[in-house]
Amino acid sequence: MSIDTTPSNEAAFARAQRVTPGGVNSPVRAFRAVGGTPRFIRRAQGPFIWDIEGQRYIDYIGSWGPMILGHGHPAVLEAVTRAARDGLSFGAPTEAETELVEAIVALVPSIEQLRLVSSGTEAAMSALRLARGATGRSTIVKFEGCYHGHADALLVKAGSGLATFGHPTSAGVPAEVVQHTLVLEYNNLAQLDETFARHGRDIACVIIEPIAGNMNFVRAGVAFMARLRELCTQHGALLVFDEVMTGFRVALGGAQSVYAGLIPGFRPDMSVFGKVIGGGMPLAAFGGTSEVMSQLAPLGPVYQAGTLSGNPVATACGLATLREVARPGFFEALAAKTRRLIEGLVVAGQDAGVPIVGDSEGGMFGFFFASELPQNYGAVMATDKERFNRFFHAMLARGIYLAPALYEAGFVSAAHGEAQIDATIEAARAALQE
Ligand SMILES: *Cc1c(COP(=O)(O)O)cnc(C)c1O
Repeated sequence: MSIDTTPSNEAAFARAQRVTPGGVNSPVRAFRAVGGTPRFIRRAQGPFIWDIEGQRYIDYIGSWGPMILGHGHPAVLEAVTRAARDGLSFGAPTEAETELVEAIVALVPSIEQLRLVSSGTEAAMSALRLARGATGRSTIVKFEGCYHGHADALLVKAGSGLATFGHPTSAGVPAEVVQHTLVLEYNNLAQLDETFARHGRDIACVIIEPIAGNMNFVRAGVAFMARLRELCTQHGALLVFDEVMTGFRVALGGAQSVYAGLIPGFRPDMSVFGKVIGGGMPLAAFGGTSEVMSQLAPLGPVYQAGTLSGNPVATACGLATLREVARPGFFEALAAKTRRLIEGLVVAGQDAGVPIVGDSEGGMFGFFFASELPQNYGAVMATDKERFNRFFHAMLARGIYLAPALYEAGFVSAAHGEAQIDATIEAARAALQE
């Protein structure tokens, strides 16, 4: 009955494509940006993943961010297994949920209350509804190149003029649904000022990736962030930090702790978390001051709910993960390793006569084939895409699994050792010579 075939990524991809659109359950996995066949993964351990052909890779995707401890961390596996034995889902409150939220409240000063959900998309969508409900205003501001999940009102690109309302970036999103979404250029101070001058009294919130990892790695400038904070306060708009990627990834207190170190007294009004707080299970959250959060059902008029919200297995996974990252010295070690990787890449580029620039914060990094670090989406897209794609495949062939698109950030985990960092830099040298 069974036909013996050697497992191949090619065959698995063809089979998947017959029953799943594009063969994948999230588009970027399909390798469309770089071409070629996606690797079908069988298992992972520590800093490594293995595809179904038995090929081993050093993993710099880490499930797009959650796997900050590396794969198969013993304490996490034990917590998950124990929780699963006690029940997969109850649809009733558990003490573990409170414990996870208390841990986050203790680590992030801007958060007084938090609600757990199941995905970053859901968290960002709910945060916007809450911001609109709490302020009684409709307009939301986002920045080009920042991704906040795929809620309708956020799938929008900049209009043609300066500070105009945007156009949908996806079919199926009516123009009316994004008519209250303003899209601005990242790091453009003048445009920010002009927007608040014209629309300030209508703006419910500004949502931003403080270190934008969905256009590779672009930091909001300190002056830009300080001005954004000031304008939001002046005009009664809420500043929403989307820390789905950066939370518990760039620092224990998230990107907001990085900006708080640069701008005295800095705090966002609301924050959105995901990825690391679930440690690889579906879990995300949004939170802020008790005043804002009390507008949420069952206390207030803003509705939001979820059958699997605060799922006990996901919660156990998140708690076990946060316990590890909160250990003294965790982020110092992770940041040093990540910095060494990026410095190694830049030097390898110099030695090969290929201009590479890079940046990192904590365990998150980005690099560009360009001579200076891009400050906004347009500049990211103007970097050398052909060169990135060739580099990506040359690295993959050498067992280095980088994100398959130049607009994605990379991630180092605690399980990556010096040996893997060295091997990666050596592979980069060889790839760049090629
Ligand atoms: C990944 C991501 C999201 C969406 O989270 P999902 O869990 O994929 O829905 C939202 N915002 C940012 C900044 C992200 O990186």
